[in-house]
Amino acid sequence: PEMVTVKTLAEKLNKQTSDVVKSLMLKGIMATANQEIDFDTASEIALEYNVLLEKEPEQDLVEAFFAEEPDDEKDLVTRSPIVVVMGHVDHGKTSLLDAIRESNVTSREAGGITQHIGASVVTINDHDITFLDTPGHEAFTAMRLRGAMATDIAILVVAADDGVMPQTIEAINHAKAAGVQIIVAVNKIDKPGANQDRVKQELVEYGLIAEDWGGDTICVPVSAIEKTNLDQLLEMILLVSEMEELKANPNKKASGTIVEAQLDKGRGPVATVLIQNGTLKVGDSIIAGTAYGRIRAMIDDKGRRVKQAGPSTPVEILGLSEVPVAGDAFFTAKNEREARHVADKVIEKNREKLIQNTPQKVTLDDLFNQ
Ligand code: GDP
Ligand code: MG
Repeated sequence: PEMVTVKTLAEKLNKQTSDVVKSLMLKGIMATANQEIDFDTASEIALEYNVLLEKEPEQDLVEAFFAEEPDDEKDLVTRSPIVVVMGHVDHGKTSLLDAIRESNVTSREAGGITQHIGASVVTINDHDITFLDTPGHEAFTAMRLRGAMATDIAILVVAADDGVMPQTIEAINHAKAAGVQIIVAVNKIDKPGANQDRVKQELVEYGLIAEDWGGDTICVPVSAIEKTNLDQLLEMILLVSEMEELKANPNKKASGTIVEAQLDKGRGPVATVLIQNGTLKVGDSIIAGTAYGRIRAMIDDKGRRVKQAGPSTPVEILGLSEVPVAGDAFFTAKNEREARHVADKVIEKNREKLIQNTPQKVTLDDLFNQ
């Protein structure tokens, strides 16, 4: 950022490039039009033309770094949906996720060690679906607090023998506030007390009207234990995602969300990131909050080492300076130096914010003079 090409400098000074080359030559600097010169040299030259060069304020560099350039329509390709499972405690969120993953293990992977990285990719009819392991509530709260929303579809799990419960309602509200599509999985249909109609009846009150009741909410009756209708649920996810026309640009620097992070005794800070746009590569330097670093290794949800990962893919990454916060967004920098620089600025900004947010002392006088 502190470098400028001779050509650009000449343009800014409203001079011919050859004039600037000549001025440089008189200072003993041999430079061609496309050569970069440092800020100090550039200001010396500018002064000769009676122009005072000012450094761009550093803050702007940081803002510019985080400002995402909008994608050109022609660069966009279809990406897989990112799905979160929500619902009341004990209604079967974990069981359903496990059942979907187990029934999806290909023969090649069977018997292999499936690694838990906080998100996993399931394949159906040659299409991928990315599931977040974090229960919807926590993931949503963290992401919404941080302004990132790495979810397209929410599976609302409602136990057929228990019906709509407080956390079911909470989940509906979370998903609606986030503008995420809801698909209802009426679970535990194998149980004697199961009553799908009662669940549908109760959901009406919250604006979710099942398709067979004349509404547009997809409801799939499932049993996580008996693995009933899991494929149908996955197919409905694909259907909804097709309607959503989810797109991303794989040909740019990656950005996305931290899904999970912890300190590993042997490997240092380890984070699972979900790439939402662009492609992340080993050797890239990223920043997430105040954590930054050059990616040393990437591991996918099947435990395989990978060199790169595209949109909607979750990968575990090694090489960060510290453990980032789950729910934080991550961005890719030009190099490690830029990543460190931006992280430093973020730390500085946080410190300023902290000072600003410290409550001021209010005296009795202040109160009465209002
Ligand atoms: P979570 O709290 O929503 O993650 O719920 P869990 O997945 O931990 O399930 C809670 C309990 O319900 C466990 O004892 C499961 O074995 C049981 N369970 C989950 N799904 C089913 C199902 O489809 N049928 C039956 N009969 N039990 C289920
Ligand atoms: Mg659970």
